Amino acid sequence: MPQHGTPLVLPLRVPQRPPHLPQCHDPASCKGPSLASDSAFSICPEFWFSDGNIILIAGGCGFRVHRGQLERHSEVFGNMFSFPCPDGVQEDRVMLYDAPADVYYFLKALYDGVAIDRHFPSDFAFLAAILRLSHKYFATTHRRQCLSLLSRDYPLTLAEWDRREHSVTDPSGRYLPRDHIASPILVINLARELALDTLLPAAFYDLSRYGPSKTAAGTAAPPALFLDAYITAGSEPPAPAVPIVVQNGARITLADDDLILLLAGREHGQTWLAHFLDRAVGSRTPAAACANARDGSRSCRDSFFFLLLNTRRAVGGIAVGRDADPLFTLRQMGEMLHRTDFSDGARAYGLPMCCFCKADFMLAIARAREEVWRAIPGWFGLTSEGNGNAGEGGANPGTAGV
Ligand SMILES: [Zn+2]
Repeated sequence: MPQHGTPLVLPLRVPQRPPHLPQCHDPASCKGPSLASDSAFSICPEFWFSDGNIILIAGGCGFRVHRGQLERHSEVFGNMFSFPCPDGVQEDRVMLYDAPADVYYFLKALYDGVAIDRHFPSDFAFLAAILRLSHKYFATTHRRQCLSLLSRDYPLTLAEWDRREHSVTDPSGRYLPRDHIASPILVINLARELALDTLLPAAFYDLSRYGPSKTAAGTAAPPALFLDAYITAGSEPPAPAVPIVVQNGARITLADDDLILLLAGREHGQTWLAHFLDRAVGSRTPAAACANARDGSRSCRDSFFFLLLNTRRAVGGIAVGRDADPLFTLRQMGEMLHRTDFSDGARAYGLPMCCFCKADFMLAIARAREEVWRAIPGWFGLTSEGNGNAGEGGANPGTAGV
C-alpha cells in the first residue's frame, strides 16, 4: 500500500502562445498515448482504485483507473485497447504526454461528470483541461458539455450576449462579470490552442472594453493544483517527490499578434461609435410624424443634443468599467429616453422628446446594435477577409443604424 509522502505540487499547464492556426507548440504534449515501459512514478491517491486495471502515467504521476471507463468515453483509448500488446511492454500501463493536472481533471470529469455551474473563474482550469484532453482523446460528450458552458458566456448571438450581461449585473446595477465569467484572456488563449473559433468574437469584444494597459498586463494564472501524491513502486529506494509550483504572481497574457488585433478592434469600435453619434444623434432629423413639428421640433432636437453630450461625457461607459463598449453605450442611450431623474439643480425631469421621435430612435438603436454585433468579427480580424479589416459594417455605421 502506498505511504503518505511529501505532497507533490503539480502545475496547471499555462497555455503556450496560441497560434493563429491550430498547431501544437509542444511536440511532446501532442503525442498520443503509448504503452509504457517500466518507470518510476508517484501515485495520485484520488485516482488509484484498488480494482483499477490500467495505470496512466503522465509527468511522473500515476493514475490506476478502469480500462472500461476510458473505453466507454474515449474513442482513442477504445481503439488503443483493442490491439494486442507488443512483446516486452507492460500491458497495464499507458504513458500519456499530457500535464498531470490535465489528466487529473480529465479523469475527474470521466468519473464524476462536468460539474460546473456559475463559478467559471475558479473552475476554468478544470474546464480547460477537460476540453484539451476530450479534444485529443475524442471524448465527444465531455467536449460538447464544456463547449456549451463556454458558449454560454461567450455566445454567438446578440440576444445571448445581452442575457449574459444581464446575468452578471446585480440588482443595484453593479456589473460584476469576473465573479462569474472566466477572463477573456484565458478564453482567447484556449480558443486559439484548440481552434474554438466560435468563442473568439465575443471574447475579443469583451476584452476590448477594458483599458489597453490593463489588457496588456494580462490576468492572474489559475490557481495551482495540489495533488496529494505518494511515492510508489518503480524506484528503489523511493525517490522523494520534487514539488513543482506555479510561480507566484504568474500572469497570463495575450499573444502579441492577438493584442494588436484586440487594440485595432477597439479602435474600430470607438470610431464606429463616434460616427454613429455624429450621424445618428447629433445630426438627427426628427421623426416625420414628430408631435413637436409646430415649433420646428425644437424640444426633440434639444433632447438629441442632450443625448449626444451625455454619451460623449460618459465615454462609452468608462464610469462603470466598460470603456469602449458600443453595445452598452447604445443601450444606455435608449434607457436615457425613458429616465425622469435628470436634474438641473432645481428639479428632476425627463427628456422632452415626443413619442414618435423616441420610437424612431429606439428602432435606430436596435438596428445599430445588430450592426455592431455583425461587425465585431471584422473589427478584430477574425473574418476570412483578412486581419484588421473592419469587415461587415466597417468602422463607420451603415445606414441600418440611423
Ligand atoms: Zn419629435
